[in-house]
Amino acid sequence: MRILVVEDETRMAALLRQGLTEEGYAVDAVTDGREIFDWVDVYTYDLILLDVMLPGMDGITVCKTLRRQHNDTPILMLTARHTLSNRVEGLDSGADDYLVKPFAIEELLARVRALTRRQSPSRSTDIIVGGLRLDTLNRRTYRNETAIELSPKEYALLETLVRHPDQTISRQQIINHVWDADYDAHSKVIEVYIHGLRRKLGDEDNRLIQTVRGLGYRLSSS
Ligand code: CA
Repeated sequence: MRILVVEDETRMAALLRQGLTEEGYAVDAVTDGREIFDWVDVYTYDLILLDVMLPGMDGITVCKTLRRQHNDTPILMLTARHTLSNRVEGLDSGADDYLVKPFAIEELLARVRALTRRQSPSRSTDIIVGGLRLDTLNRRTYRNETAIELSPKEYALLETLVRHPDQTISRQQIINHVWDADYDAHSKVIEVYIHGLRRKLGDEDNRLIQTVRGLGYRLSSS
């Protein structure tokens, strides 16, 4: 899952990036309201965390503009303002949820999970495929009901594959969903993580996570 954080306050931006990265999300961060449009042109985000008071263009205007452009990425608005009219304005502009600063990072993460879950066709928090069960709420993985310990990044990689069973997921798609914009495209990091996942899942013969030569990877449902 890839999240765009739009926040001009350095400390808050760092806090958000750290909290989300620790949970395994890929995070890009921008500080100016106008910059957002360049990023959403290039990447498909699973969620946008949008501060209201921003240089360049305020969050309300950004939100209205994105919706006018038919961008329906879930938007969670963040603001220090807390009057009723501001909340209504935020939601009316097309935001999906609204969080007032200061907030506990745990609450933010819970809302992020709720909003990203809404995108999937099923509201169930478990994904079951090919003997795997991913509890997306608690980010736990089971193979044949045996718990598998994965790092946040390994989990994010596996979730990306599991959400599209029997489809080839390109390296670029994996990078887009799991790694940040500062990812080095020439590194072997994806291969390393795939290797680690196969080992932990007991997939020694590469039947579960299949390599599609020259293209990417495919998770087999059978
Ligand atoms: Ca701000």
